Amino acid sequence: MTWFAASRARYPPSHIRYATLFRRQFNLNIRSIRGTKDILPVESPLWQAAEEAINQVMVAYNYQEIRTPIFEQTTLFSRSIGEHTDIVSKEMYTFLDRSEESITLRPEGTASVLRAYIQNNLGEQSPLSKLYYAGPMFRQERPQAGRLRQFHQFGAEVLGSSSPRLDVEIMLIPQEVYRRLGVRETELFINSVGCPNCRPPYKEKLVHELQKVYDKLSPESQARLESNPLRVLDSKDERDLKATKDVPLMKDYLCSECATHFAGVQSLLDVVKTPYRINGRLVRGLDYYTKTAFEITSKALGSQDALAGGGRYDLLVEELGGRPTPGVGFAAGMERLLMVMQKIGTAPTKQRGPALFMVGLDDQSRTWAFAKATRLRSLGFPVELDYLQRSLKAQMREANRQEAAHVIVIGDSELRSGQAKIKDMKSGTERLIELDNIEEALRSS
Ligand code: AMP
Repeated sequence: MTWFAASRARYPPSHIRYATLFRRQFNLNIRSIRGTKDILPVESPLWQAAEEAINQVMVAYNYQEIRTPIFEQTTLFSRSIGEHTDIVSKEMYTFLDRSEESITLRPEGTASVLRAYIQNNLGEQSPLSKLYYAGPMFRQERPQAGRLRQFHQFGAEVLGSSSPRLDVEIMLIPQEVYRRLGVRETELFINSVGCPNCRPPYKEKLVHELQKVYDKLSPESQARLESNPLRVLDSKDERDLKATKDVPLMKDYLCSECATHFAGVQSLLDVVKTPYRINGRLVRGLDYYTKTAFEITSKALGSQDALAGGGRYDLLVEELGGRPTPGVGFAAGMERLLMVMQKIGTAPTKQRGPALFMVGLDDQSRTWAFAKATRLRSLGFPVELDYLQRSLKAQMREANRQEAAHVIVIGDSELRSGQAKIKDMKSGTERLIELDNIEEALRSS
């Protein structure tokens, strides 16, 4: 007798028990990777509700879905996100594949969408591309509440226009998704990070001022002063906040083009009656932004309070080898959105139960029910059956547990008479129907 057969003989058929036993026997303890999560069936309705809202809003705004591979050449990300950003310098999952090519699991969506846009000449097919995506992203960050190593984002990119109307449209889309999902307590922060005309002289000024308070900065900001001085501004460290209280902010040093654009964004937000706050310290962790940068936060989240972020990146397409094409986009975290939905109680809790649970009393009836269920399912009715040879009572219990809307019991006499009782599980009422007419009965109730 094999080990498995022996243990089967000794133990009742409890799959949990088998799983434990199996693990012990082979000394296996295979777990998911730190910072990754299974999305279990109980959570799926929540994901589906959010995905449905996202798709509907994207349709309303006339964005088309694009799906790109989850891994790309490493240079795509180092070129676009920036060598000195946290993402590229310490968070990417990068490895050499068997042909010694450096591959990276995508840490964000914009770079891949732009690569696909350039590679497939989408710009030649229409002057304006409005694209959206949703899917997993990978960053080796320190896992904590709301911060995972594999997480999901949805986002959109508009390529081909420098109109501030699109900056605002891109800010409105995630907020409309949140509104539809009952998430209302969000805040929109905006800033302008300038352009290659006004940013370098401002940066020089900033570095000069930061050097004066160098000793008071956190070690992390001291290091950033060299590599990415703008990021010192969005440090949450008390020492940095205190030391940089009076340093100049980009928004006060914009060139006239950037200043006009920023003013345009603000007045359009007023036109659509969307509240916002200017946060001159908002720089975001990716290097590619020009002009507008924004973030949407929720107080329902803990320290990781950002729900979405984005901005304009007018130079990025060219940087990646395409024709000069202005662009603007956002990315929003799925897990954080779901956390807020759960916290404020707008989350759907359950998948709806089947429309019909077919109880079979003997083998022949079960086979008949199986065939009937196949037909009903092909007509679009959600139907469930018993596959575990359970008793009538146990099948009824299961139908109840699954919250089936109706139950029909099929046995020898029902097959002979061609009629059976269908029970409405909510009201408890029963009525006799023709077995040929089950779909009619389901439709009419
Ligand atoms: P980013 O691409 O860094 O601008 O992030 C956009 C949004 O994605 C954030 O506002 C978060 O909602 C979400 N996000 C970013 N990093 C993570 C992470 N490690 N885990 C979960 N969500 C994340």
